Amino acid sequence: MNSYDVVVVGLGAMGSAAAFHLARRGRTVLGLERFTPPHAFGSSHGETRIIREAYFEHPLYVPLVHRAYQLWAELEQASGRDLLRITGGLMIGRPDGVLVSGARRSAELHALPHEILNPAEVAARFPALRPADDMVAVWEPRAGILYPEACVDAHLALARSHGAMLRFEEPLTHWRSDDDGVIVATATGEYRARQLLLTAGSWIPSLVPELNLPFTVERQVVYWFAPRADSSLFGPSRCPIHLWETAPREFFYGFPDCGNGVKVAVHHGGEFTDVNRLRREVAPDEVAAIRELVRRFVPEADGALQSSAVCMYTNTPDEHFWIERHPGHAQVLIASPCSGHGFKFSSVIGEALADLLVSGHSRFDLSEFRRR
Ligand SMILES: Cc1cc2nc3c(=O)[nH]c(=O)nc-3n(C[C@H](O)[C@H](O)[C@H](O)COP(=O)(O)OP(=O)(O)OC[C@H]3O[C@@H](n4cnc5c(N)ncnc54)[C@H](O)[C@@H]3O)c2cc1C
Repeated sequence: MNSYDVVVVGLGAMGSAAAFHLARRGRTVLGLERFTPPHAFGSSHGETRIIREAYFEHPLYVPLVHRAYQLWAELEQASGRDLLRITGGLMIGRPDGVLVSGARRSAELHALPHEILNPAEVAARFPALRPADDMVAVWEPRAGILYPEACVDAHLALARSHGAMLRFEEPLTHWRSDDDGVIVATATGEYRARQLLLTAGSWIPSLVPELNLPFTVERQVVYWFAPRADSSLFGPSRCPIHLWETAPREFFYGFPDCGNGVKVAVHHGGEFTDVNRLRREVAPDEVAAIRELVRRFVPEADGALQSSAVCMYTNTPDEHFWIERHPGHAQVLIASPCSGHGFKFSSVIGEALADLLVSGHSRFDLSEFRRR
């Protein structure tokens, strides 16, 4: 039986990054993946992901995102690929809403560069966007776009170049522990490892059913619309990423046109589902609902629907991440940094998971992400 320092199960955003950081430190790594990544069946597809700094969800994410930016730059350098594009970002909503007030709080606490813009200033600087009269915007200049498929691919290619063994189309079926570590099984074989890292995204609860993890899987649809007339309004140099709180705790977001249309989506508000029964077709009433938001806030993007895609959020009850050792098997580490906002952190989470597996601790305080 082949033996490794760490078996990483799930090579999406988090697993690919962890496999890279472990292999770079000379650890022997086996990566197991259900599909052939990057793929469109989990949480890490759809061309673009937002990275932003003035984190409305909680200021504790700001140091993490700073390290993430450094690691994305290093990954671009090492892989020779374009992974990140800075566009700036706007968080738009009522001044007392969680989005604007939370972004301001993080920006002020961490002395981040930012400006507060009124609706007329937003429309003058970014003519594609039309905030309502009672909204304001937090402008942050360092926000931008990550290209998720390329990021996963780059992490995997570099993991492999550092010696990681990556096996695709080979899902973990079960695992057991003993005094020496873990034995993991797939349809084609068994492997031994000192430690096991579970980064299987929406599939994690099924790999540790005894824990009854309180995660929910939420269906999310993203849409690409053709600009109506003046497509230059949506170029990445004229249109930043934009996140809106359109009613208390109701969010939608959009990107500049990166070549396939203007991508927009609602953040949360999707149907709860089972990972094995995800509804992949998109209904006309779903298109009508997003078009309504586009007409109100990004009216020039109200052209033909070019395409759509279905993705999954794996939510924790408080929408913060979940990173903890298995309470009954200390050699098993579980990492579910999703809740719909994990991708930007995958570079730093990969490094932190490697730290936990190699030395037992991370330079970041991850205690907020334990079982609660
Ligand atoms: C529509 C959408 C928009 C988003 N927008 C943003 C954004 O703008 N910014 C941001 O920061 N985050 C965003 N997120 C969240 C972010 O994309 C996720 O947090 C992140 O992709 C989760 O990565 P993961 O590695 O946990 O899961 P995944 O990338 O899904 O990886 C899990 C992997 O495990 C594999 N797997 C499952 N079971 C097994 C098994 N038994 N054996 C082997 N392999 C297995 C799967 O095939 C999959 O490849 C968004 C998510 C969605 C769905």
